[in-house]
Amino acid sequence: MTERLYYTDPYLTDFDARLQSVAEREGRTVLVLDRTAFYPTSGGQPFDTGTLAGIRVLEVVEAENGTIEHVLDGRFPPAPPALTVHGRIDWNRRFDHMQQHTGQHVLSAAFDRLHQARTMSFHMGREAATIDLAIDLPPAAIASAETEANRIVWEDRPVITSFVTPEQASSLAFRKEPVRAGTLRVVEVEGFDVSACGGTHVARTGAIGVILIAGTEKFRGGTRVTFVCGGRAMASYRTARQAIDGSVRLLSVLPSELPSAIERVQADMKEARRRIKELAGDLAVHEAAALIGRAGETGSVRIVVESIDGDATRLKDLAGALAGRPTTVAALVSRTSPHLLVVARSGDVALESDEIVREMTKRFGGRGGGRPEMAQAGGLGGPPDAIADAVREAIAARLSDR
Ligand SMILES: [Zn+2]
Repeated sequence: MTERLYYTDPYLTDFDARLQSVAEREGRTVLVLDRTAFYPTSGGQPFDTGTLAGIRVLEVVEAENGTIEHVLDGRFPPAPPALTVHGRIDWNRRFDHMQQHTGQHVLSAAFDRLHQARTMSFHMGREAATIDLAIDLPPAAIASAETEANRIVWEDRPVITSFVTPEQASSLAFRKEPVRAGTLRVVEVEGFDVSACGGTHVARTGAIGVILIAGTEKFRGGTRVTFVCGGRAMASYRTARQAIDGSVRLLSVLPSELPSAIERVQADMKEARRRIKELAGDLAVHEAAALIGRAGETGSVRIVVESIDGDATRLKDLAGALAGRPTTVAALVSRTSPHLLVVARSGDVALESDEIVREMTKRFGGRGGGRPEMAQAGGLGGPPDAIADAVREAIAARLSDR
C-alpha cells in the first residue's frame, strides 16, 4: 500500500519519498514509492502529472493491491531501494481537478436536496465534466440547482476531510451510501453534503469560483448534466464571448438580437435560393430556344447535341427545357473534365435515354443511370466533342431503327 499524501493535504505539491521498486513495462519505467502526492485515475477523476526525480510523469495508476504506480517518460537509472526521490505535482492541472471535483460534490448535493435527483455517475473530461442524474429534469429545475450550488460556493463553506470507522459512519447522513468496508474517508461540505470520497478537494467552497451548467441531455431515462467550474468556467466564457463578439460585428446587432438576426438571414437565403432556381428555369427556356435553331433532324425528330459550361443542375434544367418541346431529343455534355452527360427526350419520341447513357459510359467511362425520358452520367473521359459526336450517332442510329 502506498501512503497517499493527497488524502490529508491536497495542497502539497513537493514531497520526498523512498523508492520501493523500478520496473520496465512496455518500454516505459514504472516507479513505486513508499508514499506519494500523485493522484491516480479513479472515481471519475484523472491522474496528476508532474515530475519524479526531474523526469516527467506520464500516467499514475492504482494497482489492485492499493499500490500507486508512476509511469515515467524516460529511463530511471537502476537504483537501490530506499533511495530518496523528489516529486513535484503539476499544480495547475491538480487545482483544476480540485475545482471540478469539489464543484461536482456541491452540484450533485444541490440536485439531490432540491429535486431528489440522485447522481449515478461522474466523469471529468478534458474540457468539461458530466454527472448523470437518475431522473429527467425540466430546465427550470436544472437552473434552480445551479443557483443553489453557486450560493454554497459564494458562502465559502469549509470542506472538511476526516477518517471514520464503520460505527461512526453509520451515524452520518451520506448523500449516497458508501460501498467500501472498513475505515472511510469522508468529505463534508459543511452543512450541505457528506460523501465518502478518495479524491482531491479545495479547502473551502469559495475556491471553486463558480459552477456553470454548460448543457443537459436525456441519458438512460435520466439527465446528463455537463458543467464547468472555476478556471474552466472562465475559459468557456472567453470562448463564448469571442464567438459572440465576432457574430455581433458581422450582423451589426446586439448580442440579445443574434437569434432573430440569424433567423432573418436564413429566411433571406431561402428566398434567394428560390429566386435563383426560378431564374435558372427561365434562362434555360431562353437558351433552349437559341439551341433549337442549331438542331439536326432524323426523320421528324429534332436532335440537339451540345457541349456547354455548367454543372449537373444547369445541364438538367436545359435538357429538360429542350425536351419540353415536341419531337425533340437533347444530349448535353459538360466542357469541364471529367464530363457530365444528360440525355432527355420529349414524351412523343420513342427513345430510351438511359440506354444511350449506358452505351456512352461503356465507351467513355464513368457511371450513370436514369429513366427513358431523362438519364444522366458523370465521370466520362475524353474530348467533349468526341463524346458529343458519339452520342449524336447513337441517337440517330436508334431513331432510324424504328
Ligand atoms: Zn470527492
